[in-house]
Amino acid sequence: MTSAEQPEMKKVRESLDTIDSQLLQLLAERRKLSTSAAAAKTSENLPIRDLNREEALLLDRIRAGRDCGLDSHFVTQIFHQIIDDSVRLQQQFVQKKANKEETKLSRVAFHGIEGSYSHLAAQTHFARSYDSIVHTGCATFGEVLHAVESGQAEYGILPLENTTSGGLNEIYDLLLHSQVSIVGEERCRLDHCLIGATGAGLAGIKRIYCHSQAVAECRNFLSKLHGVHIELFTDSATSVRKIKEEGDATQAAIASEEAARSFGLAVIQREIANQKNNSTRYIVFARAPRHVDMRIPCKTSLVMGTSHQPGSLSDVLQVFREAGINLTKLESRPVADNPGEEMFYVDFEGNVEDGRVQRALQELTRCTRFLKVLGCYPSYDLPQAVVAPQIMATDATRNETGAVTGTSSATPPKPDAKEKEKAEKKGYKLASRAHKESDTIIDIKGIKIGGSSFIVMAGPCSVESYEQIMTCAREAKEHGAVILRGGCFKPRTNPYSFQGLGFDGLDMMVEAGRTFGMPIITEVMAEEDLEGVAAKADILQIGARNMQNYALLKAVGRTHRPVMLKRSLSAPIDELLQATEYLLAGGNQQVMLCERGIRTFETATRYTLDLSAVPVLKRRTHLPIIVDPSHAAGDRDLVAPLALAAKAVGAHGIIVEFHPEPEKALSDGPQALRFPQFEQMMADLFRA
Ligand code: PEP
Ligand code: MN
Repeated sequence: MTSAEQPEMKKVRESLDTIDSQLLQLLAERRKLSTSAAAAKTSENLPIRDLNREEALLLDRIRAGRDCGLDSHFVTQIFHQIIDDSVRLQQQFVQKKANKEETKLSRVAFHGIEGSYSHLAAQTHFARSYDSIVHTGCATFGEVLHAVESGQAEYGILPLENTTSGGLNEIYDLLLHSQVSIVGEERCRLDHCLIGATGAGLAGIKRIYCHSQAVAECRNFLSKLHGVHIELFTDSATSVRKIKEEGDATQAAIASEEAARSFGLAVIQREIANQKNNSTRYIVFARAPRHVDMRIPCKTSLVMGTSHQPGSLSDVLQVFREAGINLTKLESRPVADNPGEEMFYVDFEGNVEDGRVQRALQELTRCTRFLKVLGCYPSYDLPQAVVAPQIMATDATRNETGAVTGTSSATPPKPDAKEKEKAEKKGYKLASRAHKESDTIIDIKGIKIGGSSFIVMAGPCSVESYEQIMTCAREAKEHGAVILRGGCFKPRTNPYSFQGLGFDGLDMMVEAGRTFGMPIITEVMAEEDLEGVAAKADILQIGARNMQNYALLKAVGRTHRPVMLKRSLSAPIDELLQATEYLLAGGNQQVMLCERGIRTFETATRYTLDLSAVPVLKRRTHLPIIVDPSHAAGDRDLVAPLALAAKAVGAHGIIVEFHPEPEKALSDGPQALRFPQFEQMMADLFRA
């Protein structure tokens, strides 16, 4: 930095400091208003949440943000945080009132020592409701329970399940005999890091101390290390303390970055868990149950034993079904010394003080051998207000819109006898309407494909760089597309043209999808790449050139990932359905089909978009139908009219290509929409 730049930078930093302190003051003021709102809602007996109002608020803030040059994704993320915080504060206010609780001091028992994940979870959970907390670290899970049962602590917190390694059996078994009540839940991300002495490097590590849970969650990373001894430890922070005590640069531990900081050690490597989204659900418990205000969405947990005869579990599930109660978890554990018998742990949405839940619980006592309610508590997961993509698309072009509707006809065509016979003869039984009359709706992270919805998948033909895919993801999201497309493994007709960035490209796409909250779709070309691609992509695309690669179809059929199968450039509709059957017969029922143009005598377009395939396919199959106007047209100026036509004939969605600078695109530049064209197309599609 030159000396001339310094005063300038100093001035900028001072302005940033001023703005940040204003932001913080405003956030604190807003929080106070949230508490006043909770008090007013309680005295006027109003609901705590009104998602319609929140959606209107969000839209208003998005519009105001756009007027100051802020993109909708940025504004949405910030206001989701603000609204979530406000809702949690209001719920806690109401809860405290309902239970006449003190806010002064609480003693909380947790597993491990300060800096352990349980300790971090306890801090997060109780900071919202107590002025001060005394934490008591316990050596075992059982001791945490005992501390609460014996009155040494008001609350205990224990991990119950992890997104990578699953449920903690020991805790389920302890809960069965405990005398505590679950009164809350918390979810915390576990960002595992490899921690060592300052200056230690991965190459020099000979021994790693960690908790068994962390071994399971970081298995992929650990399996790549050779000649390293793994030693199990009671908890993550204790293993970090051990490193500190030993002061040996060949030793490392797995724990959070916070643990490294609190012991003055260094992070050797971040993000070593198998999954980036590695989180643990914790339960918070106390000696006595708490009332949960009826306005707060809550869960109830119970454990039950069913009788050992056919249909007994189904009788229990029937009770929930008839009461209209949604189960969020069903976990079974064998009963010690009783082989063949199981205890079931159930979580459901509902309040034990609600008459409907009470009647269901009573009914359950008639069809179980054992039933114990473990507790009723406010749900950690809050529904978030969202602004519909349709509104995003049309709002961004600043046109006033009328009512937004889906396009696909809501009533699926009825199968007729001739269709049924044909499906059987051709061998596409599972794909046929005769097999399943109602439309299949594929749910990808809350986005529904199929039925009466119409969605847009958009992105570049190929992922070319981190900046390019980030720019594209922002553009897609800002204008109402809900799924990000991008090719990482490219099937190119010319073997000397760009073949894609492979797994590096996929990692960039995963990052872009995560940043903008969009699931991603990418093509898998070869069986050997399948495991790696399926681990990261939300939808697997099988390209037109691979529609008849039956070995690949069979392999993809064995995965659990939703698939989009593209029609071959020379396949009749029947053959597309026959290829689909390979996927379904393998077990994968989440399949959508894509019409992307076929080869005809016409040369004015790259291929000929067979729009009649859409209503024909909808008559024959229950699976969602997507149209790709980009590859069909091969010409960006033809994409928007074909997209509108696809929607008009009842497609469930389209997949389109765009590029920030089409002239520089490494593949399919001529058909890539320019951003303004994409924006206009989105507005036209959703205004229709
Ligand atoms: C693609 O969508 O990236 C692609 C290569 O399409 P198709 O398989 O339809 O040619
Ligand atoms: Mn392409």
